[in-house]
Amino acid sequence: MSEIVCPCQSGKTYSLCCQPFHLAKAKPETAEQLMRSRYSAFALRLVDFLVTTTHPNSRSPRLKRDLEASIDETTWIGLEILKTSGGGSGDKTGKVEFVAKYRFGKDPKVLELHEHSRFRRFKGNWLYLDGKG
Ligand SMILES: [Zn+2]
Repeated sequence: MSEIVCPCQSGKTYSLCCQPFHLAKAKPETAEQLMRSRYSAFALRLVDFLVTTTHPNSRSPRLKRDLEASIDETTWIGLEILKTSGGGSGDKTGKVEFVAKYRFGKDPKVLELHEHSRFRRFKGNWLYLDGKG
């Protein structure tokens, strides 16, 4: 388990990349790290991590149910970060533009999600605010 390559495609092993965030042993220092760890959480179906890393302003009562419904249908197969702005250790907000590749259900066709995500600090921690295509 510890030697698997991280799903976020950083090239690092999971135990040295997103796993410490998933286990709450470390906190992402940048918006990009949080974005990567959320992508890995989607790939590994860690719904609770996705809920707790969503900003309270965006945490609808249905969020967990919606994530559980979609996460079983989706197989995430690749992530490419295109651009980041802000999101550093001295910032309060950040943006990450990325393309994530996935398959839906049993359909072998590869689909792409191209999103501009917004991140905001809340009580010192990076959280996902929202995203648009
Ligand atoms: Zn990772």
